[in-house]
Amino acid sequence: MAQHHINTKCIHAGVTPDPTTGAIMTPIYQTSTYVQEAPATHKGYEYARSQNPTRFALESAIAELENAKHGLVFSSGVASTDAVIKLLQPGDEVVAANDMYGGTYRLFSKVFAKFGIVFKYVDTTDVANIAAAITPATKLLWIETPTNPLMNITDIAAVSAIAKKHGVLLCVDNTFASPYLQNPLTLGADIVMHSATKYLGGHSDVIQGCLAVNDDTLREQLYFIQKSCGAVPGPQDCFLVLRGIKTLHVRMQRHCENGEKIAHWLRSHPKVGQVYWPGFEDNKGYAIAKQQMRGFGGMISFVLANDSVEEAKRVLSSTHLFALAESLGGVESLINHPASMTHASIPREERLKNGLSDSLIRLSVGIEQVDDLIADLAQAIG
Ligand SMILES: *Cc1c(COP(=O)(O)O)cnc(C)c1O
Repeated sequence: MAQHHINTKCIHAGVTPDPTTGAIMTPIYQTSTYVQEAPATHKGYEYARSQNPTRFALESAIAELENAKHGLVFSSGVASTDAVIKLLQPGDEVVAANDMYGGTYRLFSKVFAKFGIVFKYVDTTDVANIAAAITPATKLLWIETPTNPLMNITDIAAVSAIAKKHGVLLCVDNTFASPYLQNPLTLGADIVMHSATKYLGGHSDVIQGCLAVNDDTLREQLYFIQKSCGAVPGPQDCFLVLRGIKTLHVRMQRHCENGEKIAHWLRSHPKVGQVYWPGFEDNKGYAIAKQQMRGFGGMISFVLANDSVEEAKRVLSSTHLFALAESLGGVESLINHPASMTHASIPREERLKNGLSDSLIRLSVGIEQVDDLIADLAQAIG
């Protein structure tokens, strides 16, 4: 269905009427096993860790949305990251972004480093840093763009050129943009990863992750890891994400509109200091963001003009519509303190070195009426 517009793909991708009843919505195949006619004679379904029709429908939807040949879904975003790293061997090196989701950093540095995989963290906004960190042992580049929480932009096409030149894989965490705003495989990446918990699911009611790839061998390797390690989502969760995807385009349009208005409003507020949002024309990464994204999304971070941690904590506790919570990408607006919440697993010195200050506030702008959201922030900032 690659020829259709993404708005149409959101509604139709991966979904075919159920062969048994014609049900227009993919049924939740809540089963662990499948009855065989004779030993090893079956309909292609043996055991639900390996095959489930609801999961397969979602996997093809993800593939279509990312202009990919194959999709794979996992029980969480970090489980999908875990599967990618399990492609590697002890001694292999990974060059990763120094500003990325805290849980990715924790998985790399606290779980996989002890199995002998070496992670090098560089500022990927300058692609020369990536090229400089590559050695003959490098097997994978891992980037996130825009980054969480500082909204830094990395040039996906430039990094994929480096990956191809050195014969290494490039994986892009595309969670913040969603497939509606950015398609890394089309820009030359080998693997795209999402926390489907966020914009794909979109309703803060499910934990899930996914990968999309074009290469058949890579798909076979990742499918082998998926079924061998077993981090598969249940069919009910797959149904919820399939349902969430049906409104991805309309949700993202509103996230982008609301995000733009709030980013500009914050920037003009006398009590607000730096505002991090990829759509400001004077941003370092603006030209690249404009080129590789179809919009700038609903994620915004900012600090107060006086940079006070106390003041920031007061603002974080004073909003009524913006709920103080981790996560992002749902229909409702959230406010979060990265230093003590989502990014607390990154050592403080690392955080400060990368520009993530203790007073930073992150917003996931929802799809409520924007004036109500601005009024809420106005009374909280004071
Ligand atoms: C949330 C998130 C993850 C992890 O996904 P889970 O579904 O929470 O396991 C990875 N990357 C980014 C950018 C995220 O925001």
